[in-house]
Amino acid sequence: MERYFQQEIETMSRDEIRANQLEKLKWQVERVYENVPMYRERMQDMGVHPDDIKELSDISKLPFTTKQDLRDYYPFQLLAVHKKDIVRIQASSGTTGKQIVAGYTRNDLDQWSNGFARQLIAAGASNKSIVQVSYGYGLFTGGLGAHQGAEKIGAMVIPTSSGNTERQIRFMCDLGTTHLCCTPSYAMYLGETVKEMGVKNQLKLQAGIFGAEPWTEEMRRQIQDALGLKAYDVYGLTEIMGPGVSYECAAQSGMHICEDMFIAEIIDPETGEVLPEGSFGELVFSTITKEGQPLLRYRTRDLCRLDYETCSCGRTHVRMRKPAGRTDDMLIIRGVNVFPSQIEEVLLRNSIEVSPNYQIVVDRVNNTDTFDINVELSPRFRGDVDSEKRKLETQLRAQLGIGAKVHLLRPKSIERSEGKAKRVIDNRRLHD
Ligand code: ADP
Ligand code: ZN
Repeated sequence: MERYFQQEIETMSRDEIRANQLEKLKWQVERVYENVPMYRERMQDMGVHPDDIKELSDISKLPFTTKQDLRDYYPFQLLAVHKKDIVRIQASSGTTGKQIVAGYTRNDLDQWSNGFARQLIAAGASNKSIVQVSYGYGLFTGGLGAHQGAEKIGAMVIPTSSGNTERQIRFMCDLGTTHLCCTPSYAMYLGETVKEMGVKNQLKLQAGIFGAEPWTEEMRRQIQDALGLKAYDVYGLTEIMGPGVSYECAAQSGMHICEDMFIAEIIDPETGEVLPEGSFGELVFSTITKEGQPLLRYRTRDLCRLDYETCSCGRTHVRMRKPAGRTDDMLIIRGVNVFPSQIEEVLLRNSIEVSPNYQIVVDRVNNTDTFDINVELSPRFRGDVDSEKRKLETQLRAQLGIGAKVHLLRPKSIERSEGKAKRVIDNRRLHD
C-alpha cells in the first residue's frame, strides 16, 4: 500500500489546495512588494497592487521572473529577508550560461527537506532504509537536497557524493543500500560498472531516485534492469528550491508538484499568455512559502504539460509530465529545431546495436551548419558498421527532419558523466 510523508497535505481536496494557495499567494505578493525593489517597481509599472490579488487567476496580473533577472540582481538583491536570516547558499550547476545563486532561510531548508522526503516515502523508503546519495554535494542542489530529505525520514544516509564509481558500488554491496539517489546518466554508468564487476546479485537496491536532467522511458528500463530496482523521476531547479519540487509516485505517470509550496502555470513561451488546462507549454512557478528568495512566476524554460486528474496513488497534487526539453536546450541547426531528447529516442530504439552514450557536435563551416553525432556501439554489436550507420542516419532524418552524420565509436570511448551528462558541443558559439 502506498504511504505518504504528509498525508493531510498530499491528499487535500482540489478546493482546499486552491484556497490554501490563494492565501499564501496574497501573503507572498505583499512580502515581495514590501521587500524586493525589483518586484515593487515592476508591479508599479504594470499598475498592479498586492490588493488586486483577489482570486487565484489574478496571478496572471503579476510580472514574470526570468533567469536573466537572477543574473542582473546577483547575488542578494532578490532576497526578501535580511541577509542574517539566510542559512545556506546553493548555485545552479551552470548547464546554460552564467551562474546564479539561491539563498535559503531555515524554514526554506525545512520545506525543501519535506519535498524530498515525500519523494522517498513515495518510493517506498522508511526510517529502516539505507539511502546512498550519489548526487554531487556542494553548490549543486542534488547532494544536499537528497541528503536532507533522507535525514528527515530518519533513514541511514550514505553521503558518497558522485565519483569513485567502484567504491560507490562496494558500499552499496557492503552496507546494503536500499535507495540510490543520483542523475540518470550516472545511474547508467553505475549499472555498466556493476555488470563489469559482476556484483549485481550482491545488491539490495529497491528503488532509485533519479533526476536533475531529462531521461527517457527506455533509459528507465535499462537502469531498472542493470541495477535491479524501480526507478523514480524527481524534478527540481535551484531557482525554485532543488530536487523535490515535483516527484513520481508508484503510479509513475507524471511527477506530483508540491502545490502547498508552489503554484504552477503553463504559458505560451512566445507570448507569455497562460494556456488552458492540459496544454503543452513552458512551465512557470511561483514560490508561495519561500522566505529567502521568493520568486513570482518564474519561467523555467522547461516544456511540459500538467495533468489535474486524480492519481491512482491518492495524491491530489497536480502532476507534470516529464519535461520534453528546455527552450534553451533546443538547437537550431540549418533552421530546424532539434532537441537532444529526439536523438536519444532514436538511439534507445536501437539499443541492441548502440549504447545511449552520445554527443552532438555542431559547427559552422562556410556559413553552413555541420551536424555530427558520435555514438558508441554496444559491446554486443556484431553486425556491419557501415550499414548500421546508414540505418541510424535514415531514422534520425525521419525523426528530426534534417540530416546528421553519424560516427560509430568503440564502446566506452565517450567520457561518462558523474553528474549531468554533457550531450551537446556547439562550436558555432565560439566563432560568433
Ligand atoms: P542548471 O540550470 O545549471 O542545469 P539546475 O541544477 O538548477 O541548474 O537544473 C535545473 C534544470 O534541470 C531544470 O530546469 C530542468 O531543465 C532540468 N531537470 C531537473 N530535473 C529534471 C527531470 N527530472 N527531468 C528533466 N529535466 C530535469
Ligand atoms: Zn500519484
